[in-house]
Amino acid sequence: MNERILSENFRQRYGRTPQVIARAPGRIEFIGNHTDYNGGAVIGAAIDRYVWVAAAPANAPGRLRFASGLDGQAVELPAANTTKLSGAEAWINYPRGVWQSLRDFNLPAPDAFDLLVGSDLPTGAGLSSSAALELATALALLDLTGVPAPAPATLAAIGRHAENIHVGVPCGILDQGTSAFGRAGQLVHIDCRGPAFYLLPLPSDVSLWVFNTLEKHALVDGLYSTRHRECQDAATALGATWLTEVAPADFNARAAGLPPKTAARARHVIEENERVAAVVRALGTGDLQTVGALLAASHRSSRDLFENSTPTLDSLVELLTAAPGVYGARLTGGGFGGAVMALTDRSFTAARAADIAAQHAARGHPRPEIIELHTADGARLLPRP
Ligand code: ADP
Ligand code: MG
Repeated sequence: MNERILSENFRQRYGRTPQVIARAPGRIEFIGNHTDYNGGAVIGAAIDRYVWVAAAPANAPGRLRFASGLDGQAVELPAANTTKLSGAEAWINYPRGVWQSLRDFNLPAPDAFDLLVGSDLPTGAGLSSSAALELATALALLDLTGVPAPAPATLAAIGRHAENIHVGVPCGILDQGTSAFGRAGQLVHIDCRGPAFYLLPLPSDVSLWVFNTLEKHALVDGLYSTRHRECQDAATALGATWLTEVAPADFNARAAGLPPKTAARARHVIEENERVAAVVRALGTGDLQTVGALLAASHRSSRDLFENSTPTLDSLVELLTAAPGVYGARLTGGGFGGAVMALTDRSFTAARAADIAAQHAARGHPRPEIIELHTADGARLLPRP
């Protein structure tokens, strides 16, 4: 996919060229698992896989049209009806939720438009196609109204609001913040309580890999919300607004008084937040062995305490962790399926990655999709082709 192809697809579908094309990157969660909505810190990186949104104003007041992919039918919706969609049309809740969010943010929103989505980012893989779709949609729709692109923090807030309120996923700011603030060569370090966003250089002699298990994590219907609620319950039990407010020593002194599952969820989040700070320090001194050990510890904590891993994710992490050239590997994103990321040195090659995928498949798991990633720039409007 690229803007030229999307523009041509738009012309074939809607009979005219788009007025605007915007593009937003997916992201990996480098470390900081379920810390974002707990008021903690997280490190992400925008990646060179994207969602593109092309749009044009329509000469038919109150008519919104949405399409995705080359073959998907355009779905026409009256602007006045904002009932939540389900089944094959459920994806439209994301871009239409962004359109509703513009109004929620007192920004202008076009009252009639045609919109087409293109993507080379796997969906439901933990690489945050949802946030990329939200941010590209927000940039495109605002541009249709002639409003300048908002600051990245505002863009991220609009996308998160759309997903929280109009889609119904209680996600934190990691996904939208990373897609908005990403920069090639940099990680995005977020203090989610502000939120405040910082860039953190990624050493140039490392590589980032993703192994997509192809087990879809269905964030909308489930376990993500359950964990969110469990964390809130744990914070309440500890008398804190944010779980990450509780100092580790204080938590250790009080953990025995909590129900075991609640204590395990809380320990994961509180210790994971400490690991994020430790990764920032280790990156500062170029200590990649320590970074790798922290990634591995993060995965073990997800597996054993937060219980958001799966046997498939665990198998890949185990094989990667034992492989030469790998500093560390962990599940990336919400969990319950999705993808594993690995930080490697330059001796780790596509052939070695394929070998690991083969060993994983020999254990009876589906063969994963392997993606060698590069860090990328954040969401932006593109020049029209
Ligand atoms: P992730 O964000 O990790 O990919 P989510 O479950 O949060 O997983 O979001 C995936 C959902 O986002 C898809 O099920 C779909 O509704 C929507 N989506 C993402 N990319 C596209 C796309 N290119 N076209 C249509 N819908 C998309
Ligand atoms: Mg998502």
